[in-house]
Amino acid sequence: MQKSKIIITGGCGYIGSHTAVALQQSGFKVLIIDNLSNSQENVLDKIADITGIKPDFEKADCTNPISIKDIFSKNNDAVGVIHFAALKAVGESVAHPIMYYKNNLNSLMNILENMVEFNIPNLVFSSSACVYGEPEKLPVTEQTPLQPATSPYGATKVMGETIIKDTVRAHPELNAIQLRYFNPIGAHPSGKIGELPNGVPNNLMPYITQTAAGIRERLSIFGNDYPTHDGYCVRDYIDVNDIADAHIDAIQYMIKNNPGIETFNLGTGRGLSVMELIKAFESANNIKINYTIAERRPGDVPELWAISDLANQKLGWAAKRSLEDTLKSAWQWQKNVSGLK
Ligand code: NAD
Ligand code: UDP
Repeated sequence: MQKSKIIITGGCGYIGSHTAVALQQSGFKVLIIDNLSNSQENVLDKIADITGIKPDFEKADCTNPISIKDIFSKNNDAVGVIHFAALKAVGESVAHPIMYYKNNLNSLMNILENMVEFNIPNLVFSSSACVYGEPEKLPVTEQTPLQPATSPYGATKVMGETIIKDTVRAHPELNAIQLRYFNPIGAHPSGKIGELPNGVPNNLMPYITQTAAGIRERLSIFGNDYPTHDGYCVRDYIDVNDIADAHIDAIQYMIKNNPGIETFNLGTGRGLSVMELIKAFESANNIKINYTIAERRPGDVPELWAISDLANQKLGWAAKRSLEDTLKSAWQWQKNVSGLK
């Protein structure tokens, strides 16, 4: 039987590469489109090491109408597109808003236009917890009102969701699932793929692992005077492989149910403070993290975690990896990248 083909934009990146592995292991054929602006082509070999199959690859920019049209016209047998391609650094987006709006929104519109033109019916969109801003009530559900975005990056996710909603309304033959990821962490248990931040990490988990590896002298904890149970910011840290699995569930759900547009939170339902995450990392890996307390980081909300019951009810999805295994995988990946034993 011929395998169903999925186009993954941004598939050489952190979440995309884990999703490519999960898709191939679920029997899908994968075509990755990536401009390698935040990833490396050798990820394709690592995916092949894990799955035995090297995904098809097109090096292209999703904002380029000519190359995307050409790729979609040659792959109009695809059953779906998973659109990861985006720039994602909050601080950089504040400094370079136009670059963010151009890259993230032009990519999305270009992809949607070609899905309509070539009758590719199912889209999964990488949205984010940041669309909730600072919510009035926790944990957030999909019914929690969205707040104005606190950065141009966040605004591209809020606007992206609007663009998709309007496009599906105008083209009822299209389905779209918007997945609002909370804080993805960890790596593939093989240790072959993981998060590869460029330069100094912005995110907590890679900063922790780089500190453990001695690349960074110490971690700065941004604020210890938040109105939370221990004074540190609280987030919903979720294993990247659990996030990856949700994309397969989403694609299968759309193929089966033709649902139009739906939106799901992807979290664990468990809020962890920065200090709790550090302590859990130390105890999972038997290693000490050097840290210091620093000023609050502008734009950080005190607490954000999610109820993902809807994804469980409709997609049959739930986060299932243990925090301990996730933190071990993050450290294993860092050790592999750094050449440590
Ligand atoms: P990533 O940077 O590792 O991967 C994104 C990939 O997209 C990279 O390989 C990059 O080269 C590629 N890309 C960027 N712009 C492109 C373009 N114009 N054309 C082609 N390729 C392009 O990021 P990630 O962490 O894997 O995130 C994937 C998606 O999930 C993004 O949309 C991001 O906004 C979203 N998201 C991420 C997080 C997180 O914490 N990692 C949280 C919520 C949402
Ligand atoms: N954080 C921190 N030090 C760092 C990076 C992050 O204390 O070097 C904190 C940050 O204030 C937030 C949490 O870790 O409370 C998660 O931040 P991250 O940037 O990983 O994800 P966000 O929730 O902002 O998307």
